[in-house]
Amino acid sequence: MVDRYQKQRIFLGQDADARLRSQRVAIVGLGATGSVLATWLARAGVGQLTLIDRDIVELSNLHRQILYTEQDLGTPKAQAAAKHLEAVNSNLHLNPLVTDLTSGNARELLAHCDLILDGTDNFEARFLINDVSILTGTPWIYTGAIGAEGIVWPIAPPTTPCLRCLMEQPPASGDVDTCDSAGVLGPGVGIVASWAAMEALKILTGSGEPQRELVRFDFWHNERQFIQPPKTRCLYCSQGRTEFLDARWSLKASPLCGLEGVQIRVNPPGKLDLEMLQKRLEQRTHSLWKCSSMTLAGHEGALQVILFQDGRALIHGPITPERARSWYTEVVGC
Ligand SMILES: [Zn+2]
Repeated sequence: MVDRYQKQRIFLGQDADARLRSQRVAIVGLGATGSVLATWLARAGVGQLTLIDRDIVELSNLHRQILYTEQDLGTPKAQAAAKHLEAVNSNLHLNPLVTDLTSGNARELLAHCDLILDGTDNFEARFLINDVSILTGTPWIYTGAIGAEGIVWPIAPPTTPCLRCLMEQPPASGDVDTCDSAGVLGPGVGIVASWAAMEALKILTGSGEPQRELVRFDFWHNERQFIQPPKTRCLYCSQGRTEFLDARWSLKASPLCGLEGVQIRVNPPGKLDLEMLQKRLEQRTHSLWKCSSMTLAGHEGALQVILFQDGRALIHGPITPERARSWYTEVVGC
């Protein structure tokens, strides 16, 4: 009988292909990498997809976020993604969630999954996913792309090292480039996310030769490196410690009392490079920002923003806490 999965079944075999129908995958972040990951897994017939994203579709997303069209502008990404994936494969169980992954909900949202895929753009979410993986033994795939570069690393503690074996803490706010500071090219993200989706198929079917190394690409300079993960285990995965789920590290956004706006706090406090951020924000907003030794202040559209050297931010104007966290990770990075 000819059916939708016939060609992949020829390659995978009957049992491995059938196994995909019973697998449950959570995709955290439905931007450029998440779009590609979700598309491949839905087309491959992965039975249950939990789609988590806090943002709405914006015009500046469309050059690389291939799940969305102009008709989706202003719609939450999780909702738009579910609509398009349903049209591709109506046999799947899709669970779209318009929410932020936080220490308060990560355990619950990512429980009962066979695999977690990282489509995020920030380290706070990745360290939360890593903690859930340490706690539950659920494998995850770290996927990142910026400029014309990308990284893929399948992680499954205790069988493999965890993210914290490689880097104990998230990079300091402002130390890492973001899509906003370095830009990003769609095809690079497409290759990186497709590579991760291929690893996902190996993990979900229990076949193939899973990749153990971290692979790093620089498509602009035609470079590819396989990096051996650290041999020693960190005290977090070796002792089952979950600092991020326990909220000992967090990026909190709360509405301002009595005013329209949001306050963001980073715990523990960091040290922002305000002069570097001034350049980045002036380029982004096409307006002048005022920098002192302790603060950086300026406007983006209707929002009035003050960044403090310790990592805090006050954003006055029409913005929700979810959007404020998203703005912060996009601009400052974390
Ligand atoms: Zn570890």
